Amino acid sequence: MNIGILGGGQLGRMMALAGYPLGYRFRCFDSSPEAVAGHVMPLTIGSFQDLDALASFAQGLDLLTYEFENVPLWAAEFLAMQVTMHPSPLALAMSQDRVEEKTFFQSMGIPTAPFAAINSREEYDAAIKQIDIPAVLKTCRLGYDGKGQFVIRSHAEVEAAWAKLQGVPLILEGFVEFDREVSIIAIRSTEGETRFYPLVQNFHHEGILQKSLAPAPNLTPALQELAEDYARATLEALEYCGVLAIEFFQQGEKLIVNEMAPRVHNSGHWTIEGAATSQFENHIRAITGLPLGSPHVTKPVGMLNLLGTIPERSKVLTTTDTAIQTHLHIYGKNPLPGRKLGHITVIANSEYERDEALTKLQ
Ligand code: AMP
Repeated sequence: MNIGILGGGQLGRMMALAGYPLGYRFRCFDSSPEAVAGHVMPLTIGSFQDLDALASFAQGLDLLTYEFENVPLWAAEFLAMQVTMHPSPLALAMSQDRVEEKTFFQSMGIPTAPFAAINSREEYDAAIKQIDIPAVLKTCRLGYDGKGQFVIRSHAEVEAAWAKLQGVPLILEGFVEFDREVSIIAIRSTEGETRFYPLVQNFHHEGILQKSLAPAPNLTPALQELAEDYARATLEALEYCGVLAIEFFQQGEKLIVNEMAPRVHNSGHWTIEGAATSQFENHIRAITGLPLGSPHVTKPVGMLNLLGTIPERSKVLTTTDTAIQTHLHIYGKNPLPGRKLGHITVIANSEYERDEALTKLQ
């Protein structure tokens, strides 16, 4: 089976590496000749606006998937008419626009931050009155890793936020005073089978994920069940196929959705060595109609993103404690400040040992 991946970043690369043992072939499409998935599969370089390039990429493919959610919707719909695409373009549409996404979650009774859509200065002023400060002003579309957003902490910052982001559709969200941030990786196959990994706790700096702890410390069965209920409702509503990530703010025993990603996700990288089946393998199993693999986790796991610089390999991998497993993943990208260049996974026998090992690596 020939599987095409839209996007050629590290997510596509890890997807293919997980799919090769199942006997599948992969190729990817990206606008950049430096796309790192191209190191492990044929890379077609082209614009997502170029119908001819997309059509010729699709030729001979049995299945299409995507590894980033900013594939233009019309390009995804055009391709889905020629080749089966999982997840569907509907899932893309829902996650590309923050207002649509939050409206969708609210329609299922899943809590979100209070929000207002803003398309003019008048609407902005009304939204500030309605939502109040503190609040977060975000672009509706094309925001990622904290880009395209402004945290408004005082009335003095209302003008600065508007000056920075005006000109495109915006959303004003109430600032959620959360206890912590958690996420769930959920999977649904073409056969309707579902699986859920344990909730993980995520630590962000300036909107970029730095660290995930799996399972989330002090995870209660009730919280896991709540997250699974929300994820299952979302999977069913979208008739979803593949891996879906949902990020939440936790307040006590309550979960408030921040956003979803219709793809494999950075907060699931720990599953490569830390779970019985990785999110990448399960994504490939799900979209090709295979039985899903166990998401079982036996030991505490931690994942650290390598942002901007890559530490010396031998330093990371040297360990005096044989009970600690350390795995290094380097994506092969050119270093740039803040860029996700790789990640480290640590597996230990206790949360204490895991946290100690992570502190040494940070
Ligand atoms: P996002 O791009 O929406 O995932 O936002 C990036 C990060 O900004 C989140 O992981 C949170 O740490 C923070 N953030 C975003 N929206 C809110 C909000 N409404 N309230 C509090 N923190 C937020």
